[in-house]
Order: sequence, then structure tokens, then C-alpha cells
Amino acid sequence: MLSPVAQGLCTRVMSRSKTMIAQTIALAEQVSGSHNLDGIYHCQSLLGEWFSQQVESTEYRALPNFCEYLADGSVKEHRTAPLQIFTSRPDAPLQLLFTGHSDTVFPVDSSFRQCWLQGDKLHGPGTADMKGGLVVILEALRQLDRSVLASDFGYTVAISPDEEIGSLGSAPELVKLARTHHIGLTYEPALEDGTLAGARKGSGNFTVVAHGLSAHAGRNFFAGRNAIVALAEVVQALANLSDESRGISVNCGVISGGEALNIVPDTASLKFNIRVTTLDQADSLIDQIDHILQDIEAHSGVKLTRYGSYTRPPKPMSPDLERLFKLLQTAGESLGQMIQWRATGGCCEGNNLAAAGLLNIDTLGVRGANIHTEQEYACVSSFTERAALTIAFIDTLISQHKRGGLPC
Ligand SMILES: [Zn+2]
Repeated sequence: MLSPVAQGLCTRVMSRSKTMIAQTIALAEQVSGSHNLDGIYHCQSLLGEWFSQQVESTEYRALPNFCEYLADGSVKEHRTAPLQIFTSRPDAPLQLLFTGHSDTVFPVDSSFRQCWLQGDKLHGPGTADMKGGLVVILEALRQLDRSVLASDFGYTVAISPDEEIGSLGSAPELVKLARTHHIGLTYEPALEDGTLAGARKGSGNFTVVAHGLSAHAGRNFFAGRNAIVALAEVVQALANLSDESRGISVNCGVISGGEALNIVPDTASLKFNIRVTTLDQADSLIDQIDHILQDIEAHSGVKLTRYGSYTRPPKPMSPDLERLFKLLQTAGESLGQMIQWRATGGCCEGNNLAAAGLLNIDTLGVRGANIHTEQEYACVSSFTERAALTIAFIDTLISQHKRGGLPC
């Protein structure tokens, strides 16, 4: 049962749709692909302006540069915008960590940059993933902060600038924040029918660079060591590691190398992504891959070097996580919302928080579809619906926490 205060807030939030849609459009039309630092700074300045009206403190925490391994084996360093952090009532008994991201997948020159409304759909870059979700956090906290429930919980809102490229810079900071909070709430979009993500796979991005020996294809072909041929063998061996029944996939996604038809190529590179369901699988795959590389290196004479790592550890469904979902389900029922969840192969910051020991639900944002494409949209009716769900969920968490019933 919701408290009368929470019931009142949930009713009041229903009149906020227009403002929430306008704020989402303002954020979404500020195109902010992960490498578009100016775009991200603009989003941060809008969010800073809105959140600072209600939170106690704002911080911009600098993040380290991150490295990209290029086809020729060289390393390119990228700058990252800071992690934006808002905090209120850090001494309250229950501490909640809200997370989200201000970057999108759409590059600076993308033609998808305007928003438009069509029935219940708000089309536009990042409207669902996840600028709409950021506005849900803002609005739910706006209501709660002004109510008597405020004294029962404190929070940190951490908005990362690099989620769409694996949170390479922000992950260590998220892990630190995870350790000082009881529950995590992440605002990635839910499916259009409202279904949330339950268990999530882990993911890692890797590069193998092959260094052979260049030779003229006619004059001394047999003296050469062909980097492409060695890498082709690697590709086939890695493809064989995928195992549908165990939920393991190895996707060789990008391959490059070679210069001319009359030269034995001495350099080639391969980028691949791994998805796993358990940490054991993650470790054992790395061992298998390193053995494959050693074998092929030994008989081909081509040096094979592996770079990269897992960026998102698996987030399995545990009894405690199941209990947290049940609490969300109860909160939803009190609003007439049916809450369901199911496992997914996708991953997000919720994986990193879970690996740091923070129980979290990570698809509390708006309902939407076609994310990461130019057909992306958020469901207009879900903005106030999800803000109310957050209010009801926090009310439920507060009352459970008071009677020692939280699974954390
Ligand atoms: Zn996202």
C-alpha cells in the first residue's frame, strides 16, 4: 500500500507531462554522440540548470581519457566529458543511487536531430535512450524533495557522458558510488509494452592485431608471413566459441588489413565483441582465446596481440534482485501498472553497479522502441507514468527499509 503522501505526489505528477516532454525535446535536439563533447557539455548545462534548482550540491568529476586500438596497432586517445553528479541529503538513512547518461549513439553530423510528435510517440535522437529517462529522474525527485518523504532518503544522481561506448571512463567512479548506496536505479528505456530488463549478459570489446612479414607476392612470396591469413584462422576459431545453449556469443565485427595485391600483408586487425552469462564463462573464454592465439602464432609465424577487456560484467538474476523486482511490482500494482521483466543480451551501467555489489533495477526510464536507430521514439504517456512509478517505488523502499525488509 502506498502512503497517502505518495498517492498525492503520484496524482500531482500526472499534470506534468507537457513540461517533461518539452524538457526531453530540449535535451534531445542537443545532439550529443559520445564523441561530441560540445553536445554533451550543452546537455550537462541544461541538466545542471534544472537539477540545481532542487538538489543540495552539484559536482563535475573529471574522468580519464580512454584508448582506442586502431587497425595498425597504434593507440588513439579520446577525451571524455566529466561525470555529472547531483547529491541531496547524504546523511539520510536510505541512500539511493540514480544513474543515467547524457550521450547518445548519434554522431555530430547525424541527420536525425529534430523531435516530432505523432500520436503517443515522441520521435527524436535519444528521446527514449535516455534523455526521457533523465527527465523522469528530475521530475520524480522534484516531487519527492518537496514532500515529507524527503527526510527518509538521500540520493546521488550520476549522469555519465560515455555509456554508449562502454562507460570506459565513468565505470570506476560508478563502482565507487555503488559502494556508498543501498539501491541503484538506472533509467534506460523499458520496452514499448513496459517490460523491464531482468538478468543481463556481460560484454567485452577486444582487438587482435596481427604482425607478419611483408614480401613481394611474385619475387619472394614464400618468405612472407601473411597477417590476413593468420587472422582469418583466428576469426574462424573465435566464431566456433559461440554457444547458443550456454548464452555465449563471440561476434567478429570489424576486420581490416592489407595494402596491395602484389604485397604479402604484414599487418591486419580484428575487433570482436563477447557476450557471456556468467563470470566463469568470461574468464574461461579469455583462456581459450589466448590458447587459440598462441597456437596460430606458433604455426603461422605471425605475431598476434590481444587488447581490450570486459567492460560490463554479467548481471545475473539473484534471489535478492528478484525480491527487489517484486517490490517494484507491488509499487506498480498500487498505480494499476503491470510490471514485468525478462532477461536480455544487452547490457548497461546496471551491470557495473551490480558487479560492485549494488542491487539495482536498470530500465526505469520511459517506454520506447527502435533505440540506436533513426526510428527511435519514446511513448508520450510513459513520462508521467514512469515518474509516478519511481515515486511509488521509493515510497515502498522507504517503508521496507524502516522495517528492515530491504534485500540490501
Ligand atoms: Zn542507454
